[in-house]
Amino acid sequence: MSARVLIVEDEAALAELLRYNLEAEGFIVSHASTGEEAELLIAEEKPDLIILDWMLPTFSGVELCRRIRARQETRAIPILMLTARGEESDRIRGLSTGADDYVVKPFSLPELMARVKAILRRTAPERLADVLRAGEIELDRAAHRVTRGNREVRLGPTEFRLLEFMMQSPGRVLSREQLLNGVWGRDAYIDERTVDVHIGRLRRALVRGKEHDPIRTVRGAGYVFDQRRSA
Ligand code: CA
Repeated sequence: MSARVLIVEDEAALAELLRYNLEAEGFIVSHASTGEEAELLIAEEKPDLIILDWMLPTFSGVELCRRIRARQETRAIPILMLTARGEESDRIRGLSTGADDYVVKPFSLPELMARVKAILRRTAPERLADVLRAGEIELDRAAHRVTRGNREVRLGPTEFRLLEFMMQSPGRVLSREQLLNGVWGRDAYIDERTVDVHIGRLRRALVRGKEHDPIRTVRGAGYVFDQRRSA
């Protein structure tokens, strides 16, 4: 049983991007572009987490947050607020909006996904997906096991974390710095070329013969995990 996430965001492109990445993580995602729509969906679907944009067309995300907190049935639903850089982010820090956490736009998707999972680990740990899937590649977090079709892919611990991190942001260019921070941690004193070495090992383990290479190198930018063309 996967966690249900409701995205309340009026920017269609951003909502779509969030949906794509959350679904890749195994979440069941719904989307509302106004507070009114969101209230209907919350009553119907009882989401496990709401990602709520501060600026919405009719009434604001803060007002919606207040209403959710005021009702007995919805009071406990965790809320991750999205705010724009500038005034609002300063105000949200000072205000007690009732949100559990917030992310300032423009945010990095790996960071947002990490916040989403951190909240759910606290509030609904049993509903975090154990298995990530992309085409015929499956990564089982609980069993620490990766398969491609019927074949087991043997990975070292670093390659496993690297693949897990990349599968969490499919289709996105991840810079060497983002990979370093996400896989080794911000405090690791590791050369960015180390990332290339581990990417090379991961590729050799994942790709046999004429199989599609899901890791694409983007010159001067980083790497993309993209498994959509194969399967
Ligand atoms: Ca907005």
